[in-house]
Amino acid sequence: MSVRSVGLYVHIPFCNSKCNYCDFYSFAASDELKTACVDRECAEIIQTAESGGLCFDTVYIGGGTPTVLGAGELERLLHTVGRFTLPDAEVTCEANPSSAIEDTLRILRQGGVNRISFGLQSASDAELKMLGRRHSRDDFEQAVSAARRVGFDNISADVMLGIPGQTLSSLADTLDFVTSVQPEHISAYMLKIEKDTPFGKNPPQLPDEDETSEIYLYTCERLAQAGLLQYEISNFARHGYESRHNLRYWRCEEYLGVGPAAHSFLGGKRFYRERDLGGYLSGGPAVEDGEGGSLQERAMLLLRLTEGAPLELILAAAGENGVGEDAVIKTVRLLNRQGLATDEGGRVSLTPQGFLVSNAVTARLLFG
Ligand code: SF4
Repeated sequence: MSVRSVGLYVHIPFCNSKCNYCDFYSFAASDELKTACVDRECAEIIQTAESGGLCFDTVYIGGGTPTVLGAGELERLLHTVGRFTLPDAEVTCEANPSSAIEDTLRILRQGGVNRISFGLQSASDAELKMLGRRHSRDDFEQAVSAARRVGFDNISADVMLGIPGQTLSSLADTLDFVTSVQPEHISAYMLKIEKDTPFGKNPPQLPDEDETSEIYLYTCERLAQAGLLQYEISNFARHGYESRHNLRYWRCEEYLGVGPAAHSFLGGKRFYRERDLGGYLSGGPAVEDGEGGSLQERAMLLLRLTEGAPLELILAAAGENGVGEDAVIKTVRLLNRQGLATDEGGRVSLTPQGFLVSNAVTARLLFG
């Protein structure tokens, strides 16, 4: 059987406590449950990779907080993942910044992880507290130093935009602080209020539309000044450090998702696991989620990237919706004049202003 290289996502559904905004499938659990979850995930990786002839050229271990698994379980998981991972693969693990993380980082590095992603969110301890995060600004600084010491040369940091009470000046401080530790990559996501979270039950005041634009455009500009170039709506990197794993999602390439709540796209089909660790441990099947990779889906995902989507793909996708070529070309010219998109080298790309209204721009291009 020929071997096919795909991405691997492993979901670790455990956190020591829940942050006020978090809708990810994660909770505090006993050591026994963590062991059972890793057992099942390792079995699923082996079974799917062997039966499908799969190897992994990108791996992303996320959650939840993978590092709450503890050394033994992490080593076991990484050993299994490593059996099917290509030598030059990008292997990312998420970690919460903590001053006591050096030993764990060393285990990750020795286990083949070569990219670490820290959730900083904010450099203001008051904002971190309001989000329900357990770490401080100092913890993050110490965690990054520890990561460098144990040999990580590819570090990403998550920053949150639109935190209740965040001002342009506190955001500027966060961006100055995070860029001062010179990460190779930054993800900057706007806070979204999700229904079944403490924020959803008791919604805080969020920035209005004008403030949101100001916050977003300021972030794009400030990160570009620091050499972190935007390559996706919410992602910025030094040249050559774009997340290879996440690019798979936006380029509609195949990936296997393992663990409860994980999504997969393999052989043209999308499927996922329910948000239910008990069901997952008892070996229930994945839920089918239809075909993936349609022209429309590919165009929509590529338009999230600064590399944009080929005009030909947009024309074909819009054509399926009954929108003629002339209408699409007219829209592209209009978006160009409005500063919302560019049209160069046969590709249409949104500008930062365009990303602010990306749903409307994408709908206009594909549905007229
Ligand atoms: S640490 Fe991350 S996954 Fe865990 S509750 Fe907080 S935001 Fe959610």
